[in-house]
Amino acid sequence: MTNPYEYEAPVSQTLFDRAAAVTPGGVNSPVRAFGAVGGTPRFMVSGTGPYLTDADGREYVDLVCSWGPMILGHAHPRVTEAVLAAVARGTSFGTPGQGEVELAEEIVARVAPVERVRLVSSGTEATMSAIRLARGFTGRAKVIKFAGCYHGHVDALLAAAGSGVATFALPDTPGVTGAQAGDTIVLPYNDLDAVRAAFEANPGQIACVITEASPGNMGVVPPLPGFNQGLADLCRTNGALYVSDEVMTGFRVSKSGWYGIDGVTPDLMTFGKVMGGGFPAAAFGGRADVMEKLAPAGPVYQAGTLSGNPVATAAGVAQLRLLDDAVYAHLDRVADDVTGAITEALAKEGVAHRVQRAGTMFSVFFTDAPVTNYAEAKTQEAHRYTAFFHSMLSQGVYLPPSAFESWFVSAAHDTAAVERIAAALPAAARAAAQADQEGERR
Ligand code: PLP
Repeated sequence: MTNPYEYEAPVSQTLFDRAAAVTPGGVNSPVRAFGAVGGTPRFMVSGTGPYLTDADGREYVDLVCSWGPMILGHAHPRVTEAVLAAVARGTSFGTPGQGEVELAEEIVARVAPVERVRLVSSGTEATMSAIRLARGFTGRAKVIKFAGCYHGHVDALLAAAGSGVATFALPDTPGVTGAQAGDTIVLPYNDLDAVRAAFEANPGQIACVITEASPGNMGVVPPLPGFNQGLADLCRTNGALYVSDEVMTGFRVSKSGWYGIDGVTPDLMTFGKVMGGGFPAAAFGGRADVMEKLAPAGPVYQAGTLSGNPVATAAGVAQLRLLDDAVYAHLDRVADDVTGAITEALAKEGVAHRVQRAGTMFSVFFTDAPVTNYAEAKTQEAHRYTAFFHSMLSQGVYLPPSAFESWFVSAAHDTAAVERIAAALPAAARAAAQADQEGERR
């Protein structure tokens, strides 16, 4: 069947065909494949500031920003300079190095609950390690997570996850055994009564509650007032640890991430994305007495050949040091302008929608009811997003290829970039208004 949204992207299509012959689904992370929206994924060859250029030579304003990390835009000269200097000094030593001390100090200085931090290479590793540590520290097995929250592809945390799992509506993931998932309790997001009931039903058995500090993997669904504090209190009362996953929000929604916005103190936190400056660097950290249980200080094993890699830490340190108050104020303004323009365009076409916001992160739900959890998120008219997405893409604006993801802006999104987005929105809103159930334009 021909895709009604397809238009010429011959070089990307050729690359996708080659990729599919050697890589499952042609991509190295599922959402990149455009499975939810159809069409040919664009293979990008370069990025500068707020723009990406694809293999067919078409330029896009980028509202994905590598799913969060590129908070300064692409190829920021100061980050590039730091990376090139680090590369010239040697790319991996397998010994301790100065860059990892500096990156750890930058994190500890920004996020008060982090007294000690361990560097890893991906957000998945960070959450996996935090869960292991929480279990090791408490001597308990069970973990509470929330439906629609994504914490990477950790076996035990793939139950009712968001992000790609939401996009593809996988009921469960083959390869995760009952034993691995059996200690995971999945609850509806923003429902403290459910958490209270789970603690009552599993006395002395719950090691931790893990939650996205403000979820962005079912679209943007911020915690209701008091929810995170309620989690922290319930954990404390019941001898469990409160693990706040700030892989997405960390250093993005404020200098100290979501912690800088709601001030709720977790026992453990996880980071990734922005702190790596576009390289594979992530971290978990928190209370000194908990973190000191990690090897070699303590008995809970955790390690990594490329953990604290000198190039990745140089990129991360350079990026974090450039993130001053002016950057966050700019991101807020860009988010205001873009969300304002979206609302105006969709309202003009009479399209039911809600733009939800968490600091500088936002997403659009094609529904007029508030979205406070995953079940509500799934009631949106996602087929309208498909039409909206392809119209924006054809006009040179790159949105997340799924209705269940956050949009990301950068410090490089200037007036010209925002105007290009605004200029594309009226036609995209019309396409959304006219979309039928199959996601096809009439
Ligand atoms: N936690 C959250 C909140 C995330 O958004 C993600 C990735 O999107 C992860 C963990 C996993 O991070 P990574 O993709 O680096 O493994």
